[in-house]
Amino acid sequence: MDTSEQLAVKILIVDDQESNLTAYEAALSGKGYELAFARSGYQAHTLAKTDNYAVILLDVQMPILNGFETAKLIRSVPHAKHTPIIFVTANFPTESYALQGYEAGAVDYLYKPLNIDILRAKVAVFADLFRAKVDVQQLRKTEQALREAIKMRDDFLSMASHELKTPLTPLQLQMQAFVRMIETGKLPTVSLDKLKRMLQISDSQVTRVSRLIDQLLDVSRINEGRFYMQREHVDLSQVITDVTEQFSHSFEAANTELVMSLTPGIVGNWDKLRVERVIVNLLTNALKYGDGKPIEVKTWLDGTTARIAVRDQGIGIAKADQERIFGRFERAVSNENFSGLGLGLYITQRILELHGGRIEVDSDLGQGATFTIALPAGASTSYSA
Ligand code: ADP
Repeated sequence: MDTSEQLAVKILIVDDQESNLTAYEAALSGKGYELAFARSGYQAHTLAKTDNYAVILLDVQMPILNGFETAKLIRSVPHAKHTPIIFVTANFPTESYALQGYEAGAVDYLYKPLNIDILRAKVAVFADLFRAKVDVQQLRKTEQALREAIKMRDDFLSMASHELKTPLTPLQLQMQAFVRMIETGKLPTVSLDKLKRMLQISDSQVTRVSRLIDQLLDVSRINEGRFYMQREHVDLSQVITDVTEQFSHSFEAANTELVMSLTPGIVGNWDKLRVERVIVNLLTNALKYGDGKPIEVKTWLDGTTARIAVRDQGIGIAKADQERIFGRFERAVSNENFSGLGLGLYITQRILELHGGRIEVDSDLGQGATFTIALPAGASTSYSA
């Protein structure tokens, strides 16, 4: 859509004679302009301070402040420094008179009695100029926003490729080790325990890559407004038990204790896979940032609200970062120390919003973190999206 079509072109008309103001109004109304009227120089100054005009029509012969004095006053308003001023005068200007006007910032003169066609034509020129200037400003802004978006996309692509590549290197090394063991005939001599550990490590790298891909897919679904829900009857304890089982060897590998205190019988009409995703995200973070110390998962029913708390005793989060970490790509740690895309909590929050729930964090730097979720509980058989 043409932005100039929506743009209000404001014109300020300054004249102490009411009848003149009425004449201007008759000549200029219905042309898509927004007209403002001032009956004195001081009033014109006040209006010029609050609005941005395409052109000011300024009567020269006014009592108290004449047109030239008014123009000087208007010029003292920073955003009106270059607003075109057309002086309206009954005197055909002598050279010195005209000069006085140009010094005061006039760009043009109109002579009384006013010729309506000339008035309209001159005003139209300045209105067009004003629109063109605004269009250029808007184009510049759009260009700047596009540049920023492209830079953000490039930064993101390089970060995402790095994150995806990181688990692949050890995975590839494990695969090569297997091939070597087969080639050198050593495979049968390797204990089943060792083989299991090697495969578990490989499996956790594959899980990591697939979680990253899931996050990327979720973010693009959110961006495109395609983040739909598949509600079903879900038992909270069951979901948490399933997820923690998937995590058992990550907990073993990190030598981290998991303490669970689950209230049985909490159910809801939720998107099961997405609730799983929420628990996975919070457990992944608790493991990643939890300093190897015990992690607690607790559920309870608070009226008709199901609550889930995941508590770790790790690095914690400074108060100043606690809001922004729920934003897209927002992280409160450096990439050198902890890998991640800064998407887990963003997706978690969106999933909970879709369920009519929410998430809160209670933490301090170095004091561990507790993430608490609220989800509307209660069994319903409807399968609405
Ligand atoms: P990622 O972990 O990939 O960076 P998240 O969106 O899951 O993405 O988390 C965003 C940021 O919030 C993290 O980078 C980290 O700074 C902080 N954070 C999340 N969970 C914890 C936690 N349990 N303890 C400390 N910091 C956390």
